[in-house]
This record gives sequence, structure tokens and C-alpha cells, in this order.
Amino acid sequence: MSRRLLVAGNWKMHGSMQFVKEMMAELNSSLPAKINYDVAVFPVYIHLYDVITNKPDHVKCGAQNLSEYDDGAVTGEVSAKMLADLGCDMVLVGHSERRIRSNEGNEEVAKKFAQALKYGLTPILCVGESLVQRQSGATQTAVWQQIQAVLDLVGIEKLGQGVIAYEPVWAIGTGESASAEQAQEVHQFIRSQLVLNDDTIARRIRILYGGSCKGSNAYELFSMPDVDGGLIGGASLTAQDFMAICQQADKLSQGV
Ligand code: PEP
Repeated sequence: MSRRLLVAGNWKMHGSMQFVKEMMAELNSSLPAKINYDVAVFPVYIHLYDVITNKPDHVKCGAQNLSEYDDGAVTGEVSAKMLADLGCDMVLVGHSERRIRSNEGNEEVAKKFAQALKYGLTPILCVGESLVQRQSGATQTAVWQQIQAVLDLVGIEKLGQGVIAYEPVWAIGTGESASAEQAQEVHQFIRSQLVLNDDTIARRIRILYGGSCKGSNAYELFSMPDVDGGLIGGASLTAQDFMAICQQADKLSQGV
């Protein structure tokens, strides 16, 4: 089954109104109108509207987080319903920076995943092991526990409506990417576990790689059989770097 590559830029807590203006101008002028892969960007909440109203139609826009609740007395949070109302397509769930800094546990992440689907947003479930877990041989256990929590809450059908991003914590923002082989090994493991639940969904779901992905390593990473694109942090912050990654996805999507 062939899966469309997805190049997703996580801007984290970066940017300004001017940055959004310039990035949208670049995407509108540099990204061809017809592409055989998908592109998405994830600005901070307050820049979402500007991105949504100025992006090319075929670029998706998502938030970096959402509340696990519908609405109510939850000061400072933003609900899935509000994101959908604004025109968001996607949302990141369980990014390691939120798991670590905001103590988001697997159950909370699973609830957020369910909320996203309830309001028609595509959740990107971020999973990944720490350096200590990798060094102690606990990569598969750590990654699968994070996915299992979502599976337990929503079931395989609904998990299959989202996207998974494998992001080894030791590779995020460090400049040290996982090798293509290391990424493939974990992606293949995830897919093989999902096959035990539903073969069709396991083959259809997109599994992105994230962690110091850039123009120079994107081709090698994305050409692995179970790597379906990337979640890009640092290299999504300039149009030049981001487009360099998109160009690699473009080549692969054309079989070059
Ligand atoms: C991320 O934060 O999702 C990420 C992959 O960051 P970076 O590309 O900077 O490692």
C-alpha cells in the first residue's frame, strides 16, 4: 500500500506576525500548486488564524496542543471544538516537550487524541524514547506503551484516523538525527504491532519521523519503507530549510 508522504513543520514557540507573513508568502510562491505529498505547519495558537487565512489551500494547518475537555472553566486552554471552528485541520498530541515540561501522561495524551477526532481534527500522536531508555534497551517498550494507551481508549479504527510521529527524545533539537536504519527499525516495530490489531489499518497509517531532520538527511530517512515523512522542528523555521525538505519529499513522491 502506498502512503502519501507528509512534511509537517512544528514551529514550537517561535515566530511573530511578520514571520508568519513571510513564511506564507514563501510557501505561496515556492510550493507548486500540485504536489504528490502533503505539507502542514503548526504555529502557536495566536498565529493560527493568520496562517489559516494566508496559506496555500493545499497546505494544512494545525495546533501544537489542545485541551482534553470540550469547554468549561479551564483557564488558558484551547479546545478541539475551537480549533475546528477556526479552520484547523490537524493537531499535535503528546509532543515530548509537553510530556516532559507539562507532565502530560499517556492517559491525558490519549484523551486529547480522542478529543481531536471528536471534532474532525487529524491528531499526530508523538511518541519516542529517552536516551536512557534507548541505552537500556527499552525503546520498543517505551514507544509501544505510549501508543497502547491511545489504542486502549479509542480502539484501532480511530487510532487509524490519526498519524503517528516517532520522535526519539535524544534526537529532538540536538542536531543528532536517528540514522535511517534506527528510524526504520522503530517504525517497522510500530507497524508490526499494529498489524496484530488490524492489518489494513497498520499498512495505511502514516508514521512520520521527527528529530533533527533536515534537507540533507530527509531523502534517506523518507526513503525507508516504513517512514512516511517527517515532523520537523528547527528546519521548519526558515522557508529555505523547510522547502529543502519538501523537495526531497517531492523527489520521492515522483519515484526519483
Ligand atoms: C520536533 O520538535 O518535533 C522536532 C522534530 O524538532 P527538531 O526537528 O528541531 O529536532
